[in-house]
Amino acid sequence: MPAPRVYYTEAIVLSRFELGEADRVLTLLTPHDGKLKAIAKGVRRPRSRLGGAVEPFAELHLVMARARTFDVVTQASVGHAWLKLRDRLESTATAWYLAELSERAVEERAFAYPVYALLRRSYQLLDDGMAPGRVARWFEFGLADALGMRPEVERCVECDRVLEEDDEFRWVPTQGGTLCSRHGLPIGEQMRLSLAALKLLRAYQRLDIEAIAGLRQPAEVEAEVEQALRWFIRNVLEREPRSAAFLDEVRSNRKLVGVMTPSAQREGLPTA
Ligand SMILES: [Zn+2]
Repeated sequence: MPAPRVYYTEAIVLSRFELGEADRVLTLLTPHDGKLKAIAKGVRRPRSRLGGAVEPFAELHLVMARARTFDVVTQASVGHAWLKLRDRLESTATAWYLAELSERAVEERAFAYPVYALLRRSYQLLDDGMAPGRVARWFEFGLADALGMRPEVERCVECDRVLEEDDEFRWVPTQGGTLCSRHGLPIGEQMRLSLAALKLLRAYQRLDIEAIAGLRQPAEVEAEVEQALRWFIRNVLEREPRSAAFLDEVRSNRKLVGVMTPSAQREGLPTA
């Protein structure tokens, strides 16, 4: 039996670009159909039935019609919008960063429910006001895990020895995590990891997100873990996310208001 021509799905918009006079092509993440590209026809016209509904940072209910290149969005409504997330520039930039990581991580029409659930929860946490850095690290750890590449933070990736507190630790993303001091390595493929940073990495693995939210850590430990996990995820995805630079800019200048958002940058920029 052929697949039905019309189908329903929930979806989160990961990115979009404008097509022609009034259309928009959306990259969507769905719970059961993975990532897919769809066209929202006439969405930029003032009185479009779809207009306003097919925005990022919301869980959408979509009725879609299959077509040869892109499926067509025929009906759209907002199931849940994470509106408060947009009140803070750093949360918004983080939300774009997480969307881009999801887009890079998931193949079209491939099973991706764990990534969908992770992104959905992360948007909710940002919306609830959780520190964007904590949400981003939790997401990065969870994404690597969902892709079958969970960072090793308990044992040495080389000799499988349980890491002891008095050891010296090195972080080696190309080898999958933490290395003990017994092994030599060429410079450039590793960074030193403090015990406090290793413990925080372990917290991302062991604790639920409510417990992680309550952890108090010095800024330098947070920075170390950020560097480690961003490097790790860059290695997993084999490229530097474009939105990471924007996120860094936002954080280095938190007074920045009303600047061009990645959505504006993305529009007109078809994704590869
Ligand atoms: Zn070792």
